[in-house]
Amino acid sequence: MTTEKCVFEGCDRPNHAKSLCNGHYMQQHRGEELRVLQVHKFYAPPAPGRKICTACERVLDAERDFYSRATGTKHTWCKECYKSKQNARKAAKKKVSA
Ligand SMILES: [Zn+2]
Ligand SMILES: [Zn+2]
Repeated sequence: MTTEKCVFEGCDRPNHAKSLCNGHYMQQHRGEELRVLQVHKFYAPPAPGRKICTACERVLDAERDFYSRATGTKHTWCKECYKSKQNARKAAKKKVSA
């Protein structure tokens, strides 16, 4: 008997083996407790007004948590990641000049 979908509650991924999707099957295979899979950033688009930071992969508020470019499009990194990137750059510069 086979089902079309993973039996894990709330999981819509196709059945891979033992009525589990590939991700949940791997969790079971590794002896882990089945848990909600981390949604791959290209698997499910975020809700309207939400945006995924490509650096930390958190789903954040598109308006509030992302800087806009001069062109009006949003950065792919959230403010936090963007700032930490800039700080890292500054720190690197300091090291060079010191
Ligand atoms: Zn699943
Ligand atoms: Zn981020």
